[in-house]
Amino acid sequence: MATRNILDDQQYARQFKSRLFIFFWLALFSLILLRFVHIQIIRGSYYSRLSLENMMRLKINKAPRGAIYDRTGVMLARERPSYAISLLYHKVDDQKKLMETLMRIRDSEGDTIFNKRELKDQFWRARRRSFEPIKLADDVPLDVVTVVEEHITDLPGIIVENESRREYPFGTLACHALGYMGEISENDFDSMRTNFDYQYGDQVGVFGLEKQYESGYLRGVDGKEYVMVNAFGREIRAIEDMPSRKVKKGRGIYLTIDYTLQKVAEEAFPDSLCGAVVALNPENGDILAMVSSPRFDPNIFTQSSKNRSRHWRRLLFDPKKPLNNRATTGLYPPGSTFKLVTAAAGLNENIIDVHETFKPCFGSFQFGSRTYKCWQPKGHGALSLINGVQKSCDVYFYQVGLKTGIDYIAQYAHMFGFGQKTGVDLPEESAGEILDERTYNEKFKDRGWIWTKGQILNSAIGQGQVVSPIQLANYPGALVKETALFKPHLFLYSPRTNGARETWKADTLGYIDLKDETRMILIQALRAVIEPGGTGGYARVDSVDIGGKTGTAQNPQGNDHALFFALGPLKKPTIAVAVVVENAGHGGSVAAPIAGKILRTYFNKPGR
Ligand SMILES: [Zn+2]
Repeated sequence: MATRNILDDQQYARQFKSRLFIFFWLALFSLILLRFVHIQIIRGSYYSRLSLENMMRLKINKAPRGAIYDRTGVMLARERPSYAISLLYHKVDDQKKLMETLMRIRDSEGDTIFNKRELKDQFWRARRRSFEPIKLADDVPLDVVTVVEEHITDLPGIIVENESRREYPFGTLACHALGYMGEISENDFDSMRTNFDYQYGDQVGVFGLEKQYESGYLRGVDGKEYVMVNAFGREIRAIEDMPSRKVKKGRGIYLTIDYTLQKVAEEAFPDSLCGAVVALNPENGDILAMVSSPRFDPNIFTQSSKNRSRHWRRLLFDPKKPLNNRATTGLYPPGSTFKLVTAAAGLNENIIDVHETFKPCFGSFQFGSRTYKCWQPKGHGALSLINGVQKSCDVYFYQVGLKTGIDYIAQYAHMFGFGQKTGVDLPEESAGEILDERTYNEKFKDRGWIWTKGQILNSAIGQGQVVSPIQLANYPGALVKETALFKPHLFLYSPRTNGARETWKADTLGYIDLKDETRMILIQALRAVIEPGGTGGYARVDSVDIGGKTGTAQNPQGNDHALFFALGPLKKPTIAVAVVVENAGHGGSVAAPIAGKILRTYFNKPGR
């Protein structure tokens, strides 16, 4: 019996323990349930009452956009404070009356701020998103904001919001590289909203670096909080136990651009002329200056919508197309700047000899039934390769081209980066075109044109192909140095929140396969162009070994284009410059002086 009693006791103790255990869990569960009920039902009804009684709204705190700096820390794009007038639809009591009151508001010039059609659109949008403020006007002048604030009791549903806007302190400086902002389009909105939390009326980068580095670098994360509002929709305080998100500023980027060099390049390039300048470091692809002319002021795209649309129309219909970035999308026949490709192909394939003089130049060359002219009607006489490049004799290069053949010329052109995008970190770039027999026949099939050997003569002197100024800046480095052809880029680094830097990872377009001997000859030829007797004397820099090549490209639409590239020091170039001036005549007299000013600033030396 005793044994049994003991057993019962043990059983009882076990049962007790397990009941206690169940009770404990039941109690815990009830507590959780109670808390849940409290939050969901009691507090929840409090919030839904708040929202039903229009006492609560979602407030978006706009994140400042990251700034853009040059390589030395000069700020090229920043934020400035601005005001927006927005609509909270659920606070509106009489839509018709409110719209009429708004349309009567005028700025200091006597112009209205709101137009009927836009107001109607925005009211329609606001109705669908009742608790979110919908922007009616942005970048509103302070005098208008004051008027609205004074009459806010007559404008139920209207609120004034603080915002920041993009500002470019140097106006047109580097505008095509920096790009500009625009209001998010209806199409983009649908695709971007899901990932990046955009709102109607938001400004986004739509061109240039502003577009390229929009996400991850420039755009921040907007803050979100629910706020109590009074009867007029004005904020009283934040509601703390509702979900919220802290505002996070955009990281910002530092560019490879050098402000001083950029400024000199822009001042050297007359705004009345069209064209482009690119200066870069052939050792790593850093773009030091990028100019496209004519320029525009990107500030106009962040002004009030009224000003914006007026300027936009003017820029869009300007026949000179100032919004195009000619540095990366402008395509031009390279003219004589291409002769180094022809020379490199002939020399490196052992097809021509540096001392070979061919038939002397008497101002023209007879091939088949056609006469091909030299730019110099008096002729150049008999020339070797160095002098052929120095004087830029067409007759000499017709013969180099015929002997080398189009396949090698096209092959070397591709090796130097022509006929393909450089991959520069901008959304806008054109590939250009290098024609050989096959691509020519394909291209002109519809017109019934067939490649003839005469085409080689044109190709050898840079007619028929088209290249971009950035390609023209990237190629000279590859002629003289024994290394890779780098992808040109504008991104230098972006600061991380932990203080570290995310730097550009060097990327190559390909490797240059030139014999040392070929390179030595090309260096001599490039140097001879800048030396007395050459066509590029205006790019001379005292005590720096500079090389270059002029070009004058025939333009079927008008006057010839002037081209020029230069680089230095030839032994180990750290800068290469390409200049294209549309319809301006000779490369030596128009484009070379612009490059000269940039090179002398870079080397901080006088010159011609
Ligand atoms: Zn000649």
